Formats: sequence, structure tokens, C-alpha cells
Amino acid sequence: MKRSMLFVVMSIMAIAVIVLAGCKRRDQGASAKLQVVTTLFPLYDFARTIAGDQAEVTMLLPPGMEPHGFEPKPNDIIRISQAGLFIYTNRYMEPWAETILKGIDRQRLKVVDAGQGVRYVKASAEEGLEDGHGSHDAEGNAGGMDPHIWLDFANAGVMVNNILAGFVASDPAHAPMYRANATTLLARLADLDQRYREGLSSCGTRIFLHGGHYTFGYLARRYGLEYHSLSGISSESEPSAARMAAMVREIRSSGVRYLFAEELLSPRLTETLANEAGVSVLKLYGAHNLGKDDFERGVGFIDLMERNLKNLQKGLACRSK
Ligand SMILES: [Zn+2]
Repeated sequence: MKRSMLFVVMSIMAIAVIVLAGCKRRDQGASAKLQVVTTLFPLYDFARTIAGDQAEVTMLLPPGMEPHGFEPKPNDIIRISQAGLFIYTNRYMEPWAETILKGIDRQRLKVVDAGQGVRYVKASAEEGLEDGHGSHDAEGNAGGMDPHIWLDFANAGVMVNNILAGFVASDPAHAPMYRANATTLLARLADLDQRYREGLSSCGTRIFLHGGHYTFGYLARRYGLEYHSLSGISSESEPSAARMAAMVREIRSSGVRYLFAEELLSPRLTETLANEAGVSVLKLYGAHNLGKDDFERGVGFIDLMERNLKNLQKGLACRSK
């Protein structure tokens, strides 16, 4: 109830800001660059790569902020309504997007659902989900799909093509450059995929245990790893004591020597589990968002995935090629 009231309020605000947005837009010169607003880090990084210096790309999520509980503020809605292109991940990750867009003049604003056409995996079959609740389930996630699609690099390629289509439709004059930048990015993603495939082909264990929320299901599936996480699809949910105990038993019986932890989220639970089970902790990037330091250094999605590959190879005792 509380949440739906919030959506009503947000919709009204969105309608109200259209007038403001319209005024501001008329002040901009014809030569103004395409303004692109993205939600999560992978979209931001793909979009700025495609944009080159022809468009201005921003991210709604402030660096370092936990992504699953994110709700746009009035100022964010203004930013979206003033943009030429708005890119979101999918309705499972940003259930608020469709609501907000209903209140915005769509003739002017082009919208990209980056997840269109990706291969979705249902989240509900996975363990840990009995604890899962939060934004994904509360709004629009009736299908119970795993929103973390960017962690399957074939899906990431589909996302790049969707984003490219948005750029071409918004700014056809620069289409050849956008296409060239996207082609380079797709080649880098294909190369990353190949390095993962080789790097994770020969490992001491294929059991990938994660003391956080259910983030890496797509990645594990793509490279044939057996993935279990402490908690469900949303990082807002706290696991029960019973789930913690079950995870400790699982770590012990699997014989793994490392438990994976998530960046940007509190490592407290992961450390407790690892101490209890007598294993070490290795960090992985879910890449929903970027920490402040990495953001300032201009670290990219592929950089984060390269760090992940190193730690996965260490944690799963893989022979590097
Ligand atoms: Zn997540």
C-alpha cells in the first residue's frame, strides 16, 4: 500500500515536471548534445562507450549506492523527462520505470528496455529465495525473473545492441559512429566471454558459493558452475538463522576453500559464515553499481569482470591457461 501510494505521488510529479522540462528544452540550442540517462552501471558504461563524445551519458544511481532498494526522487524524474534517451535494465530490476514513463511525454523521450530479447532465467527455482523479498517481488516481478542479466555476456551483447538502437533512433546523424563504437564493444565482450570459458574450464571445484544475494546465477549457468547464494534475488532481504546454518553446512560439505563476497554490500554476514566454516573470503563485483573510487578512476564493466575472473579462478582452484 505504502509503495503504491508512492508511485501515485511519483506519477503526479512526473506529469508536473513535463512542463518544466519542456521550457528548459526550448532554451537549448539545436547543436546541444543528446542527453542520455541510465539507471545501473552496466548500462551507463555501455552507453558512454557507444556515445563517444557525441552524447552526454549520466547514471541515476549515485556511485556506491545499493541498487535494489533504489527509488527515483523527484529530481531523478526531472532528469529523465529532460533527457532525449532513457535506458533501464528491465522491469524486474526497475519496477518503477514503467510507472514513471506513463507520466512522461514519450514523443520526445526515447526509451530503451535494455533487457528486451535477452534470455531470462526464472529466479524462483533457486534456493535462498525463501528469504527473498523486496523491490523485485513487490512490484511487477510476477514472472519472478532474475534481473541480473548483464552477468551473462551474451545477454550483455543483446543489451549493447538495444542501447545502440536507442542511440540511432535518437540521433540518426551520428549513427555510423555509434555503430562503430558498439561493434568494438561487442568484440571486447566476445573476447571476455572466451577468456571466461577458457579460464573456468579446468577447475578444482565447480561449486561456487556466495555469501550474498542471488547475483551470479547467469554467470554460473553460462560457464557450467553450480551456484548457491546465502540470500535471494534482492539484496534487501536478511537471511534467517536457519539459512545461515544451512549455508555453513553446505560450505563444509562442498569442500570449497573460499566463500565469495559482494562488493558494495556489508561483508559482515559473509565473514561470519566464512569464520564459522573455516574458509577464506574473496571479493566479486556484481557491477550493479560502482564504488566511488572506481567511478572516479573511470573503471569500466569489463575491468570489473576481469577482476572477477581472477578471483573466480583463485577461489575455484582453476588452472589458468
Ligand atoms: Zn542484485
